[in-house]
Amino acid sequence: MKLFEQEELVIYNSTSKFKEKFKSINEGSVGMYVCGPTVYNNVHLGNCRTFLSFDLVFRYLKHLGYQVRYVRNITDAGHLENDADSGEDRIAKKARIERLEPMEIVQRYTIDFHQTMSLFNALPPSIEPTATGHIIEQIEIIEKILAEGLAYVVNGSVYFDVHKFNKNHSYGKLSGRNLEDMVANTRDLTAQTDKKNPQDFALWKKAEPEHIMRWSSPWSQGFPGWHLECTAMSTKYLGKQFDIHGGGMDLKFPHHECEIAQSEAALKTNPVNYWMHANMLTLNGKKMAKSTGNNILPHEIFSGNNSKLSKAFSPTVTKFFMYQAHYRSILDFSNEALMASEKGFNKMMEAYKMLSVITSSDECNFDASTWKQSCYNAMNDDFNSPILIAQLFEAVKIINSAKEGTINLDQNAITMLQDTMHTFIFDVLGLQDNLVANTAGDHQLVGAVNILIELRNQARANKDFATSDLIRDQLKDAGIHLKDGKEGTSFTTS
Ligand SMILES: [Zn+2]
Repeated sequence: MKLFEQEELVIYNSTSKFKEKFKSINEGSVGMYVCGPTVYNNVHLGNCRTFLSFDLVFRYLKHLGYQVRYVRNITDAGHLENDADSGEDRIAKKARIERLEPMEIVQRYTIDFHQTMSLFNALPPSIEPTATGHIIEQIEIIEKILAEGLAYVVNGSVYFDVHKFNKNHSYGKLSGRNLEDMVANTRDLTAQTDKKNPQDFALWKKAEPEHIMRWSSPWSQGFPGWHLECTAMSTKYLGKQFDIHGGGMDLKFPHHECEIAQSEAALKTNPVNYWMHANMLTLNGKKMAKSTGNNILPHEIFSGNNSKLSKAFSPTVTKFFMYQAHYRSILDFSNEALMASEKGFNKMMEAYKMLSVITSSDECNFDASTWKQSCYNAMNDDFNSPILIAQLFEAVKIINSAKEGTINLDQNAITMLQDTMHTFIFDVLGLQDNLVANTAGDHQLVGAVNILIELRNQARANKDFATSDLIRDQLKDAGIHLKDGKEGTSFTTS
């Protein structure tokens, strides 16, 4: 029996605004699409939070035994500077400023994105398609929408006719808006536009002579509208209807609303059963923005090279910090919060390791099965990672009490604690032990630190405390903390 047959997962659906019991279209398998990054600069920490939220969803679904096809695209064309189909293409603009080919920009920042995600130990998606690799599929969808009479061509550009679509469909159902309000709230844009109505959106834009990213189409040399790529790629790889569509909260409108409209117009289906949106990350209580300087990049956290931080924090600690908030809550990033997360993470890992040295008893004062189920219950409740982490800290308390001898654990309870903590810490949360040597570089580090520990022991044996303190303090400055115990000296890294 697969786990998903016994665990009842509920997901908060942005469309209904309720938690709904999850049932996949095809039993045992899940199709999930997440809007990926526009690769025109280094990946933003807020975006990382979104992708890590969906990494958690992906990992938990896999853990439950589902066969998951996870598609996350790379936007390498068509994303203009503002959502109202105006401004320069973000990638083309960066290419112009840096005097590079647009595809050099795409390559550079795709690599940065992959490296950052891999440092965070996020699993790669099953398919990672690009917008430029799916121009033909996008053109086909435009042709279908035109055939339905729900789009129009003006001067080589094609626009989706939102007002006409809204007569038989409901535009705005995901974001809870309605067209009348949108019309009432739109200022009369007398600025030059080919659109019949300001609410219409571009499916295809004719390229201006200076626009370098362009493809042939039946309407003009141009480029697809940004919303279209996700409809084309999700349909191609997951079918007309699939289980989960995710993205950042800021994409709900207009991007996801437009995706629904495109699918309903071209394919006559509501494409997605469960819409999931991850909330934003603020920095010291304020919105992160490059323009105001209230910004921090992932590699600055890992190196400590940012004035807002007192030290470096590992990717695992950063990720652990993010999972201490539910993905639908706003999360505030600060040095203090990271310090607290680091402390908590180290405490959890120490307790986990303690399990292998605790002596079992014939008696047991801890109901490990109930505790294990409460870990599943947390994740079954819309992937509630903060509750899961609270449960892991319950285990930490129990382990510490067992170590102090105030409670007893039998071998069954110890094994269940070990297995369950391993499952949730490493497989589901995808955290990595800062202390375990799991790469060649880490093995070298462990070897080198052990030599220093040995030198320090010799210094102490010779009562040369100046040297032993110097070794300890300098290692501490380098983020390596020595801990003296009965069994000798161990170390943790941060
Ligand atoms: Zn998208």
